[in-house]
Amino acid sequence: MSIQSINPANGEAVATYDEMTSQHVAGIVNSAHAAFNEWRHASYADRAVPMRKAAEILRKDARDFAQLMAREMGKPVRDGIAEANKCAVACDYFAGNAAKFLAREAVATDARTSFVTFNPLGVVLAVMPWNFPFWQVFRFAAPGLMAGNAAVLKHASNVPGCAIAIEDVFRRAGFPENVFRTLMIGSKAVDAVIEHPLVRAVTLTGSGPAGRAIAAKAGQLLKKTVLELGGSDPYLVLEDADLGVAADVCTKARIVNSGQSCIAGKRFIVVEAVREEFERRFVARMAASKMGDPLDESTQIGPQARTDLRDTLQRQVDQSLAKGARCLLGGSIPDGPGAWYPASVLTDVRPGMPAFDEETFGPVAAIVPARDEAEAVTLANASVFGLGGGVITRDVARGERIAADLIESGCVFVNDAVRSDARLPFGGIKESGYGRELASFGIREFVNIKTVWVA
Ligand code: NAP
Repeated sequence: MSIQSINPANGEAVATYDEMTSQHVAGIVNSAHAAFNEWRHASYADRAVPMRKAAEILRKDARDFAQLMAREMGKPVRDGIAEANKCAVACDYFAGNAAKFLAREAVATDARTSFVTFNPLGVVLAVMPWNFPFWQVFRFAAPGLMAGNAAVLKHASNVPGCAIAIEDVFRRAGFPENVFRTLMIGSKAVDAVIEHPLVRAVTLTGSGPAGRAIAAKAGQLLKKTVLELGGSDPYLVLEDADLGVAADVCTKARIVNSGQSCIAGKRFIVVEAVREEFERRFVARMAASKMGDPLDESTQIGPQARTDLRDTLQRQVDQSLAKGARCLLGGSIPDGPGAWYPASVLTDVRPGMPAFDEETFGPVAAIVPARDEAEAVTLANASVFGLGGGVITRDVARGERIAADLIESGCVFVNDAVRSDARLPFGGIKESGYGRELASFGIREFVNIKTVWVA
């Protein structure tokens, strides 16, 4: 069996790799566990040295990594450079803050001494997606390794070159051999890795079906999971919104990563009083987004990562139109090779249509009309997902109230597009998953929060 990456811009094969045998994989897990038994005793200061070096390598070679991402999954190269630099920021952040986040916490009780300490768990399996092929891995690995764990990565089958490059970053940075390893396997081989007795926990970023399968397997074996799944982020455009800001923020939110982000804006819930004017400005902004060669620095929308995912998007558009949505821009696959899909805008989208009920993983925006704030909030929450969301209003106090108290999701941004930040926790509720990555919350997901009592 082999794993092959295909350039989605033109359909040509990039590289082919042999899939590892189950014995090979078991051997790597054993080696990672042996490495963990040393690494767990390193001080935070000692762990920070290679982590800071990894940050340096990511910055120095950002352009090479971006070109690799462009070839394997079509990411515009300027987005890839930004992604590699963001990974570097996370490495430095956890190198600098792990000791503080995981410091012993003294608790006054009737013991002579009692405290809480945070021990690493061991080998953690990371099952990762292709959409941010570097960032998704580093946002788990930087805190995970600083906490003293070892990691094995099963990356998405369409980005095997990125998986190898990431393992190489850690090796060149001077991490002990086997503290971080890549497993070149397909999804069918994941169960056997979860079953390995030395794999102590699993983190997945990906689709709902993958989340259900992995959580079920890990649950049977009573192994902890963190799941970062899909989203259908709502953006509320209220009647007091600055519509220039609304069009800019909503366009940025929708076309991020060529529309293939769990925290991309997907449903734009617009109060009727400003709907027509918003539609006009938003369509103009979306139409001006440049689609083209991902290696061209001015490209904003590259190809979709795979033709099968692009075809799913078209099915969602067609079924939504058949149920009464109207197409204001784009909406069909262009002729020619590659997995291209243009910036598209649908309006009159309502619950019951795929563009509302499902995650649209591509640059298709759904405008959902609402009478007023109350109906907009109800529609925002009428989703199986709960990852992120936005509120656009000139009244900042109103935006803060809706964000803090009313929207059911892991984060809400007021007058800005949702993005992850190493300093803030990231994750979802409902079918967007559970657990948190990043910040102090993320680094505490894969540790044993241990009570010590000294009489
Ligand atoms: P996916 O199938 O969930 O892939 C994510 C990772 O999980 C990959 O490494 C994949 O391996 C693995 N995987 C898939 N099914 C598995 C299973 N049953 N057991 C163990 N591992 C499994 O995502 P996709 O096919 O690339 O994209 C499909 C949809 O997922 C998208 O349309 C979107 O809705 C969602 N998605 C969300 C995110 C996010 O950041 N939240 C990212 C990517 C995709 P293989 O590549 O070898 O199959």
